[in-house]
Amino acid sequence: MNIGIVGLGLIGGSLGLEFKAQGHRVLGVSRKSATCERAIALGAVDQASTKADVLRDADLVFLCTPLGVMEATTKEIIPYLAPETTLTDVGSVKAWVVKTLEPLWPNFIGGHPMAGTAESGIDAAHLGLFHQAPYVLTPTRTTPSVAVQQVEAVVSTLQVRVHHCTPDEHDRAVAWISHLPVMVSASLIAVATNETDSTVLKLAHALASSGFRDTSRVGGGNPELGMMMAQYNQASLLRSLLAYRTQIDHVIDAVQNEDWSTIADLLQQTHQARPSFVEP
Ligand code: NAP
Repeated sequence: MNIGIVGLGLIGGSLGLEFKAQGHRVLGVSRKSATCERAIALGAVDQASTKADVLRDADLVFLCTPLGVMEATTKEIIPYLAPETTLTDVGSVKAWVVKTLEPLWPNFIGGHPMAGTAESGIDAAHLGLFHQAPYVLTPTRTTPSVAVQQVEAVVSTLQVRVHHCTPDEHDRAVAWISHLPVMVSASLIAVATNETDSTVLKLAHALASSGFRDTSRVGGGNPELGMMMAQYNQASLLRSLLAYRTQIDHVIDAVQNEDWSTIADLLQQTHQARPSFVEP
């Protein structure tokens, strides 16, 4: 199959490496010619160009740019796509993307591979990024079933766990497990950094270890990605942030009032609840 990838960064480059390893012909488009050359050198694409005409032979195109340029990029590539070409995206937000791109291309289906690292750009791309990760597809009532089947068949070869849901359900779920954690983790780094006693701050820098590494990881990641989550998933993120603030207020009250049994109950419940989200 001829697979097009638009936006050769962490996600686009990693998809290219996987598809090329499977024997597909991978056609890349990116903004900078240096990125295109690097993607070819790394073996992530067979051909790459800053011009979308390289996509003329593509059967399936993955849109892997930042969310903020997806609409403009789709309008740029559309004149070069064959009418039967399927277009899918990898954006971390789905309701806005689907609402915006679906009217532009009938063979469009929203997608989201739920894998990433703190790195960005083509040099961060690597084989195996998606292995065992969830891959969400968000077809709507008007998505052609052939597009759903084609994208599901291709992404299933990445050894991912495919989930189907509506764009809105996706955005509400990822607000809890991805977008809220980014804001909470960023806020944690910010308040720790704001410690005014320089001796204590220096000591905190020196003592930070595995716990802080885990809890600060997503807040210290790609700033552009976090910004896009807030901007394009605003309603769901806000709903989660407000619930989080209420929860923190309960914790503050309990600590202030030396209500240790409330704290103990909370930690007992969260100890039991965590394995239903991730393996301990
Ligand atoms: P990335 O590493 O920064 O790659 C994005 C690529 O898009 C860049 O390499 C860049 O290529 C190109 N690009 C940037 N601005 C552009 C513009 N204005 N016009 C055209 N191309 C542009 O980002 P990423 O982490 O792969 O994220 C890409 C998409 O994947 C986003 O929509 C994000 O929501 C989604 N996603 C990310 C993760 C994650 O954890 N990172 C996980 C799942 C989904 P040039 O070098 O040529 O400029």
